[in-house]
Amino acid sequence: MESRKLLEESDHYLMHTYTRYPIILRKGRGMKVWGADGKEYLDFVGGVAVNCLGHCHPKVVIAIQKQVQRLIHVSNYYHIEPQIRLAKIMVENSFADKVFFCNSGAEAIEAAIKLARRYSREVLGQNRFEIISALNSFHGRTFAALSATGQERFHKGFEPLVPGFSHVAFNDIDALEAAVTRNTCAVLLEPIQGEGGVKIPDPGYLQDVRKLCDRHGILLILDEVQTGIGRTGKLFAYEHFGVTPDIMTLAKGLGAGMPIGAMLATDKVAAGFQPGAHASTFGGNPLVCAAAATTLDVILEDGFILDQCRRMGNHFRTTLEDLKKEFPNLIADVRTMGLLVGLELTRDGASIVKHCMDRGVLINCTAGNVLRFMPSLIVTEKEIDHLIEVLEQVFDSLSEKT
Ligand SMILES: *Cc1c(COP(=O)(O)O)cnc(C)c1O
Repeated sequence: MESRKLLEESDHYLMHTYTRYPIILRKGRGMKVWGADGKEYLDFVGGVAVNCLGHCHPKVVIAIQKQVQRLIHVSNYYHIEPQIRLAKIMVENSFADKVFFCNSGAEAIEAAIKLARRYSREVLGQNRFEIISALNSFHGRTFAALSATGQERFHKGFEPLVPGFSHVAFNDIDALEAAVTRNTCAVLLEPIQGEGGVKIPDPGYLQDVRKLCDRHGILLILDEVQTGIGRTGKLFAYEHFGVTPDIMTLAKGLGAGMPIGAMLATDKVAAGFQPGAHASTFGGNPLVCAAAATTLDVILEDGFILDQCRRMGNHFRTTLEDLKKEFPNLIADVRTMGLLVGLELTRDGASIVKHCMDRGVLINCTAGNVLRFMPSLIVTEKEIDHLIEVLEQVFDSLSEKT
């Protein structure tokens, strides 16, 4: 009764921007979440790669509790201790020298685009402004991020978009080379296309992109909003590919659930921003930074979590490949890097998500037919095996019908 009323009110009061499942999630611990009706779910969505330490990780909870009593918010007119602490951890563990904080992935992309254009004008003394990104990419919903996003379905009805963006096939260095003009200032790519269906490029592709950028004096922006913060088994996905970007965007897992985004750059490129060039009222707020600094402390503490992520990623891949052998007509491909896991189906995946939910497991479907799994980085073998069992049951029931 209570749940039904809440669902009605949700529908009544909230703008209809989401296709939501008819359950209300009220409580979470580790890999588990509970509905308002008490039903328990194993969570392989993880807030879409946000809950990297599971739900309500005790160390993150304590960090938030301590900070919320001391100081919730002050303006960036002043120096902020948790922000300094977080930026230091990020710089010491990445290619970057400087960090700008904002509140989401799209905002991090906006900041990256603004910095790339401004760097061209202020530092290089040129007037280059074009940015090349990939078809099938996803960079967020604000206007410049949307314009960078290489999927028309997200653009529909919002035109005109921001000028100065072009899109080329992902994982195709010749297409990228052909798209460079005298106005190109940056190439913007996800190291692995997440929303686009967990598309992993060939091993040499990003290195070729790096070389191309260097040859033309173009910046390389890597969007690690989804792949960053340990998701792929390294702190940042670029570490797998033997390249470093000039600019990187982060969000999702960075605050283990607190809303925070970041744009990182080398000192050389960061010189494109001077005081007043860019800002965010909430960006780098003490509360979110305290949570994010603790998240990174926990992930980096002794290498255990990244190690666990790689081991569980391997286990995930092996069990999914076995499943593919069992259901060759249903499963087209298994694509994984660490705990960013995609299972491409030969059919639409939406109904499979619903069947899994009925059986107490939350999963995601993206790009129409790719089941995507983004569990906590400390998911256990037992939890993965349970998911596989449920998938097996669901696939079994589907094969019986066809
Ligand atoms: C989710 C995502 C974004 C957008 O992040 P928001 O926080 O929703 O604005 C941008 N880039 C990538 C790669 C993402 O996965």
